[in-house]
Amino acid sequence: MSLDRTACAPPNLPARSEMERAYLARDAAYDGLFVTAVLTTRIFCRPTCPARKPFPRNVVFFRTPQEAQHAGYRACKRCRPLEESDCPGWAVGLLADLERAPGGRFGDAELRARGTDPTTVRRYFVRVYGATFHALLRAARLAQAHRRLRAGTPIDTVILESGFGSYSGFRSAFTRAYGQTPGAVLARAYRPQEVVVENPV
Ligand SMILES: [Zn+2]
Repeated sequence: MSLDRTACAPPNLPARSEMERAYLARDAAYDGLFVTAVLTTRIFCRPTCPARKPFPRNVVFFRTPQEAQHAGYRACKRCRPLEESDCPGWAVGLLADLERAPGGRFGDAELRARGTDPTTVRRYFVRVYGATFHALLRAARLAQAHRRLRAGTPIDTVILESGFGSYSGFRSAFTRAYGQTPGAVLARAYRPQEVVVENPV
C-alpha cells in the first residue's frame, strides 16, 4: 500500500447525494476530494467554503479545481480552492509523520492533540485510500519493520520501534503481510561486516 501523497486525489467522485450532504454540512473530511461549481455564478468552491451554500440544483461537482477551471469556472476568493494541493493540510502533516516515524502513537487522543478530529481522519482515509487509517498505519509499520530486518536490525529492536504491543501480534501480522516470518527475513539480512572482500592482486 502506497503512502504516496501525489495519490491523494481519489480516482472517482463520491456519490452525488453524499457530496451534496458534505458541502451543505461543510464537512472537512471531504476537503480535497471534490469542488462544487455553481452554474449561476460560474464560481467553484471547496466543500468547506464558509460562503452561503448554493442550492444543490445549481451545483455541479468536479474532482479537482483544475477540472472546474477547464470547464470555465473561476476559483472562489473566500475558500481559495486553488491554493492547496489535493490533500488537506492536516492530512499532509499526518502522512509525513506516519512515514517518518510509523511506530509513534496515533490514537484518538494524539489526533485530537494535534487539532485533528479522529472521525474526520477515519472518514478521509477510507474515502481516499479505500483503507482505514489504522490499516495504513499498520502497513507503514510493517514496511518499516521489513526494511529494518533486511538491514540486520535485531528483532527486539524492530518490535520496539514498530509500535506493535506484542511479539506474537507483530509476528503474525508480519508473516501474513510478507509470507515469511520476521526471523526468516532477518536470517537473510544484508550484513556489511560479514562480507568478505578478497584483496585484489
Ligand atoms: Zn468558496
